[in-house]
Amino acid sequence: MGTPVTTGIPMSLSKTPSIFENSDYLKVFITYCGYCLDFIFPHKDVSYSCIQCSNYGVCQKCIIFMRVQHLSVHTFVENVKDTSADEVIHYGVTCDGCQSPNILGIRYQCEQCQTKSYNLCSQCLPQANTLHDHESHMFKPIQHPLVRALNRIVLAHRAIDVCRTKLFQQDPATGWTINYAKQLTKQVVTVDTENGTSHNDKIEHNDSEMEMMKIVCDVAETFRQGALGQSEWL
Ligand SMILES: [Zn+2]
Ligand SMILES: [Zn+2]
Ligand SMILES: [Zn+2]
Ligand SMILES: [Zn+2]
Repeated sequence: MGTPVTTGIPMSLSKTPSIFENSDYLKVFITYCGYCLDFIFPHKDVSYSCIQCSNYGVCQKCIIFMRVQHLSVHTFVENVKDTSADEVIHYGVTCDGCQSPNILGIRYQCEQCQTKSYNLCSQCLPQANTLHDHESHMFKPIQHPLVRALNRIVLAHRAIDVCRTKLFQQDPATGWTINYAKQLTKQVVTVDTENGTSHNDKIEHNDSEMEMMKIVCDVAETFRQGALGQSEWL
């Protein structure tokens, strides 16, 4: 559906050892520290948000600098651990362990079984050794299209900040140049429903699928507008 947002990345850049290989990146909605620009994985990292600035947060290392480096009248609060990635639904992907028809939360796929895709939900993953016939096979998280869409917007904003503050030609984590990242932030987000599903997964374009796509687009658009409104560089 639409043009995949990866279009235009030079091959050499896309091979940079990167955030894209990080299993937490594949699993959850990420964010980053507004001060040191390090990634924050909100399901496990402690982070803080400024109450007065609607879109400014920092990591645990940087909170001590905020009294001096941020407006001193502003107040930071600790964020609650974010578990929203546990609530995304992989429509049309059945868990081969518990047979639930649409995997809820993080989806894991066997890396070795190529001809017939074998998937497990996060509840069943700990029993992979007994559930799956091939005991030695490894599982990897498959990124949900919504997680992918929103994470790429966050990555684009971070890449711009990294290039600006460190005077880099390209962001080491993504391999993106500042111009490419700017393009990504201005693009209308299109979500590739085939992404994150192997060729064996039959996606039924039924009502719930369409409903999910609508939510994806709404969320992405709201997020994008919020981010654009905050950014002095756009
Ligand atoms: Zn930081
Ligand atoms: Zn503030
Ligand atoms: Zn399961
Ligand atoms: Zn397997």
